[in-house]
Amino acid sequence: MIMSFQQLNLIEPLQRALAQQGYTTPTPIQLKSIPDLLAGRDLIGIAQTGTGKTAAFVLPILQRMTEKYPRVLRTLVLAPTRELAAQIGDSFAAYGQFLKFKHTVIFGGVGQGPQVNAVSRGVDIVVATPGRLLDLMNQGKVSLKYIEFFVLDEADRMLDMGFIHDIRKIIAKLPHQRQSLFFSATMPPQVSQLAQQLLRNPVRVEVAPQATTVERIKQGVFFVDAAAKEKLLLELLVQKHLTRVLVFTRTKHRANEVASYLNSHNVKTVAIHGNKSQGARIQALQSFKSGRTKVLVATDIAARGIDIDDISHVINFELPNEPESYIHRIGRTARAGAEGTAYSFCAADERDFLRDIERLIRLKIEVMPHAYHSDYAQNAAGAAARPSPRNQRGRSRSFRPGKSHFRR
Ligand code: AMP
Repeated sequence: MIMSFQQLNLIEPLQRALAQQGYTTPTPIQLKSIPDLLAGRDLIGIAQTGTGKTAAFVLPILQRMTEKYPRVLRTLVLAPTRELAAQIGDSFAAYGQFLKFKHTVIFGGVGQGPQVNAVSRGVDIVVATPGRLLDLMNQGKVSLKYIEFFVLDEADRMLDMGFIHDIRKIIAKLPHQRQSLFFSATMPPQVSQLAQQLLRNPVRVEVAPQATTVERIKQGVFFVDAAAKEKLLLELLVQKHLTRVLVFTRTKHRANEVASYLNSHNVKTVAIHGNKSQGARIQALQSFKSGRTKVLVATDIAARGIDIDDISHVINFELPNEPESYIHRIGRTARAGAEGTAYSFCAADERDFLRDIERLIRLKIEVMPHAYHSDYAQNAAGAAARPSPRNQRGRSRSFRPGKSHFRR
């Protein structure tokens, strides 16, 4: 049974905003969360980006906020990165465009003046990264005394990034009477412990177990020497059907190198990573979103929370050492039901990473032929092709012949 947003009892100004975004059908997490959130329940959502989880909490919070109109800070959303915080802020702006609430986004790495001014002019909603928020709270510039709605987004990533102490300090300042929402892509013990402390009798909503999202994405692995990766990347990128490509590297340094290599070969590329100023990051993202730049090279942290539709290909120039990152990375393509392709370059020293990834996603990734042969490339491809007990069990994504295979 497919439901429409009309059936979710959302108020007219929200319906109008959704219509303007062109959204007619709620995603599964929206369907499962919105009724309970409108009823005031706490919620634990196990979902990754790309599932529509932001709207799943922004819409019901906005609706519940319309029940009264005092101009005090009533909603706090915590997010791990400034990009994600900015994006959640944009969602409040988009879905709340026909309501009268004001929101602001608070994050580090930029001057605090404008953020403090925005808060002192009066805001209903703050979206923040933990460090800067705590800083402003300690200076007495932000008070959480009147918070009614609290969201902790991407909790697993927050803990990975070492925010646990800041988060605990922030939570300690929240009023007891509140509605709390907790989202995480994964639920390791430390994360579920935090959820238990934060939530009261929550509804639990779990969508798209990771493997199902992954299964929609066509995946291929190139066994290639590290030294040949740049050439292989260039060769892939000149193909027309790679229209908007997100390339991942493990380090900032490598991201810069790959971007300058591609630019020097006339493939328009921008890079984002933690060392770039906020202005430079915003500019890079805009250039990529608008299509002026075909390729964005990013590190995992910088890419976290980036919300860009129509990414045709994700390319793992280097494989991540945490297999979960592979799922986050490739989930950047095939968003909101679209098709997508993810390629991975695997050098000799990355084969253990590949093995961990295949174990996690329970798929054997198809080996792609290419022109940069070496003993390693040949042996690795040969070993992957030989049936072993594990290979026989693992399913293989098949590529349409002739479409993605290319040889010189
Ligand atoms: P999120 O998981 O919140 O990062 O959202 C993923 C993407 O899906 C974003 O680009 C949203 O704007 C988009 N989106 C959210 N809800 C819907 C919907 N009901 N229909 C279509 N797209 C949506």
